[in-house]
Amino acid sequence: LKVTVSEIDIPLSYGPAFEGERVRKDDLYCQFGAKEQCTELVKMAEMNEIEDGKVTVVGPDIKDCEEGKAYPLAIFVQVAGREFQADFEPILERQIHHLTNYIQGIMHIGQRDIAWVRVSKAAVEKGFSLEHIGKVLHAKFHQDFTKIADKVEVTLYTKKEDVDKLTATARAEYKMRDERVEKMTDESVETYYSCTLCQSFAPNHVCTVSPERTGLCGAYNWMDCKASFEINPTGPNQPIEKGECLDPVLGQWKGVNDFVYKASRGNVTHYNFYSMVYDPMTTCGCCEAIAAMLPMCNGIMTVNRDYMGETPCGMKFTTLAGVMGGGASSPGFVGHSKYNVTQRKFIAGDGGIKRLVWMPKIFKEEIKDRLIKRGEEIGIPNFYDMIADETVGTTEEEVYEFLQKVGHPALEMDPIVG
Ligand code: SF4
Ligand code: ZN
Repeated sequence: LKVTVSEIDIPLSYGPAFEGERVRKDDLYCQFGAKEQCTELVKMAEMNEIEDGKVTVVGPDIKDCEEGKAYPLAIFVQVAGREFQADFEPILERQIHHLTNYIQGIMHIGQRDIAWVRVSKAAVEKGFSLEHIGKVLHAKFHQDFTKIADKVEVTLYTKKEDVDKLTATARAEYKMRDERVEKMTDESVETYYSCTLCQSFAPNHVCTVSPERTGLCGAYNWMDCKASFEINPTGPNQPIEKGECLDPVLGQWKGVNDFVYKASRGNVTHYNFYSMVYDPMTTCGCCEAIAAMLPMCNGIMTVNRDYMGETPCGMKFTTLAGVMGGGASSPGFVGHSKYNVTQRKFIAGDGGIKRLVWMPKIFKEEIKDRLIKRGEEIGIPNFYDMIADETVGTTEEEVYEFLQKVGHPALEMDPIVG
């Protein structure tokens, strides 16, 4: 499918050819996100509530931005349609990533409340405005989701107070979506779903999404994939019959292996859902967090994208993502969603959440309620307080000392590598 500029009324070239294009430091004019908040939300609206094709920029636009600076941004898309369901919101929202990337000279990274838009000098010279993101989303949502989207209205906020307000709303929405699969288990379904949306960046990468393992970007859970398949039966989310279970502990199924082998064009023969030590699932660059082994602590750490500091594995998030975000399976490391940490199957094959010894404070606090609940479930009610963070230290030695002091369960477990 080739989209020409004439179909989308913006002064820049547009199409899949520009998806993988980077906006490097020297080409960068300004950016949204990075150290500022950048959030995306798609919400269903009533037919009479919105105006199709209306795009509003509330606050400063590109022409008001200073070269070299970062600004906050919230992209709010309202969609109405007779066939539209709230279940479809996350599917459309996840398209913002590649649809924005299709604009020449614009780079988009991440999703949800960790999005990031980089605007090149060349795009600014051609007259790029934030309004053009809205025009693109309006046109493409109509084109790609004809069946379900009758009206699309886009509002882009750039004032901090507006962005913060929309971010709070969005986080409540994300939470609701995440919890829709809360009560399901992997055993309770015969069908998982693939996601190959990220193959344009990580060609061998195939996410398999099960009820207890949400996609590593955090934007796709099992329900979302199911809805996506309903909307677009030939799209990136295909049902996978699990088939014969080859390893119930590490989480490996024949049907999944067969699918992954084909979808990765023979590059990935198999992977495990519940292990980061042995043949973990492949990781692409948009994961919300990356877990890494800490051999001395007999456990693991995890670091989220929004934490910029040092970690006890010796690598910052950006380094980890650079090393393993290309779509390979990297034993000892795995990309995962924030939500996945408290899903019951999280590295279950390596001993489960009891192995978790370190994570950044902001991440820990973000999922505090669920971590406490999981601690109670595994019979360690004060587990939350046993997880070290950067205030304890960022070296394995410091973490190890802390674990001994608090009696962390990982120290009593079988060696993490057998
Ligand atoms: Fe899909 Fe996985 Fe990419 Fe998320 S990270 S969009 S689930 S392929
Ligand atoms: Zn990805």
